[in-house]
Amino acid sequence: MADQPVPAGPQQLSATGVLTPEQIAATKIWLEQKWTAGGCPFHGPTTWEIDNHAAIVPAGPVLGGTVFTLIVVSCAICRFTVFVNGLTAGIFAPGIAPVATPTIIPIEASETETAGS
Ligand SMILES: [Zn+2]
Repeated sequence: MADQPVPAGPQQLSATGVLTPEQIAATKIWLEQKWTAGGCPFHGPTTWEIDNHAAIVPAGPVLGGTVFTLIVVSCAICRFTVFVNGLTAGIFAPGIAPVATPTIIPIEASETETAGS
């Protein structure tokens, strides 16, 4: 894993739900430490793949309420899938990072006057 980014501690999940390379690397480390049985329950030895998108699941029927931020781990052979709670596993910091607001630069009055004439 020499080419893997070194996790710098939990980071908030991005608003797009895409994991950072650091979050994926931290998940691989977590799986190696915690999931020692390793094999797929359907056929045994396998390679586990971490999706680069998190699954965001509402904790109840109210929109805007609590959500679970889950890391999607799938068997490379049969696609059996498990969810790892990214918050309790220490991969995600609490909350979801806000969407970056684009900077709006107002057009100068002199530019709008000359543009139409
Ligand atoms: Zn499998």
